[in-house]
Amino acid sequence: MFERLFDHFPRGITVCPICGKNDDRKCFLIAIDGTTDEEGKICEAQPTHRECLDLSKLQYNREHGLIYMRCLKSSISKKEDAHD
Ligand SMILES: [Zn+2]
Repeated sequence: MFERLFDHFPRGITVCPICGKNDDRKCFLIAIDGTTDEEGKICEAQPTHRECLDLSKLQYNREHGLIYMRCLKSSISKKEDAHD
């Protein structure tokens, strides 16, 4: 299902944007809006726990043509605090 699935969460770099933790569990990479290079081939990606993605919480925005899931905004600001 996930092309970019990894057995371990990267240590000390970032936290999962959904749960706000960096527990060592399976994770996948989500492309980050606005980070794609000019050729559209390379972009920054956010490691996210596979278990934290809850398909029942996905929402569809007709106006913008987006399928998304809200995550804790506070978990993003914890990025600098993640040490293990
Ligand atoms: Zn998580």
